[in-house]
Amino acid sequence: MSSSAHSDILRIRKPAPEAPAIAVRDRLGRPLRDLRISVLDRCNLRCGYCMPADSLQGQGVFLPRESLLTDDEIERLVRAFTCIGVHKVRLTGGEPLLRRGLVGLVRRLAGIGAIDDLALTTNGILLPRFAGELKAAGLGRITVSLDSLDEATFARMSGGRGSAREVLDGIKAAEDAGFGAIKINTVVQQGVNDKGILDLVGHFRGTGHVVRLIEFMDVGHSNHWTPGDVTPGATLREQIHRRWPIEPVERQSASAPARRWRFKDGRGEVGFISSVTEPFCGQCTRARVAADGTFYSCLFASRGTLLRPIVRGEHDSQRLVDYLAGLWSGREDRYSEIRGQAGDADPRVEMYRMGG
Ligand code: SAM
Ligand code: SF4
Ligand code: SF4
Repeated sequence: MSSSAHSDILRIRKPAPEAPAIAVRDRLGRPLRDLRISVLDRCNLRCGYCMPADSLQGQGVFLPRESLLTDDEIERLVRAFTCIGVHKVRLTGGEPLLRRGLVGLVRRLAGIGAIDDLALTTNGILLPRFAGELKAAGLGRITVSLDSLDEATFARMSGGRGSAREVLDGIKAAEDAGFGAIKINTVVQQGVNDKGILDLVGHFRGTGHVVRLIEFMDVGHSNHWTPGDVTPGATLREQIHRRWPIEPVERQSASAPARRWRFKDGRGEVGFISSVTEPFCGQCTRARVAADGTFYSCLFASRGTLLRPIVRGEHDSQRLVDYLAGLWSGREDRYSEIRGQAGDADPRVEMYRMGG
């Protein structure tokens, strides 16, 4: 960011913790709207597309506990982000429900007035234990990941941990706690779970929940991704349309990654997140912060910026806001649009570390 651009931001920004959002734009003109925070990089599953067990050999794979941001620090950081435009926050991981005291953190974040959408992405296994408390703490929405209803396929994709039954029980617990319109994230791997997608979509049709079919992505560096592992969203769309006719829903939010389609018979919607075959970098208004406070401007980044010293230090809030504004202003990522042209980069950061 040029120094004059930075001083413009400083002139117009108000120092109050919940000051109205200031329109900071990145180098490609994109504002910042959404923040994904990984609250923990550990997980109780070992999905091969994310955290393959064979990539976790040896010590030091996961962040040491003392390097994790505390609840105080996360709240401070989120408040600062709201000053430069963030109004949607999603807690993720790793598996966020494994973080000790997560309910208390949710309660604190739910109390930040500038946030109008507080959500959580989980593999669902621990929802029977936590769904009620999360709802009471002010969590707005839940997304649950489920790749297959078939137990053998589920186990193949989860590294042999957990079960589809447990995830379905988690979804039921979320319903009972009062969460409606739950999003069901399904990563589609060609030759692994693609044949079971109609079963999955059929299972949730008419329930009010929305299955979102996600193209397997080349995030991280240990999932052995190849282009041949991707089932294009368009292929799935055609299959679904043949069984239950669908039509596109007009986009409500330009920055939402999922393209929404509705069943013509009125039995709900299905979403497609096709970041490989239909990239959407031009509308990407999302920042990520890992559990140790590293800021990432793109899901496919090879490096980030450690915010922990500035969040943990004695600096005033305005300095943190300025720093974040500077980071966002310098952003020019558009990996999915230039996939394959980037040449040899350093290994990409794993998704479970960065926050999916
Ligand atoms: N553990 C939680 C869960 O699975 O929902 C939250 C973290 S997980 C990294 C967030 C989302 O990223 C999940 O829906 C998961 O399916 C998705 N994901 C992980 N690796 C992926 C990949 N290689 N391609 C596409 N989506 C992926
Ligand atoms: Fe864990 Fe979620 Fe990654 Fe699966 S996708 S290994 S549940 S963090
Ligand atoms: Fe955003 Fe990076 Fe994904 Fe493009 S590749 S949509 S810039 S996270």
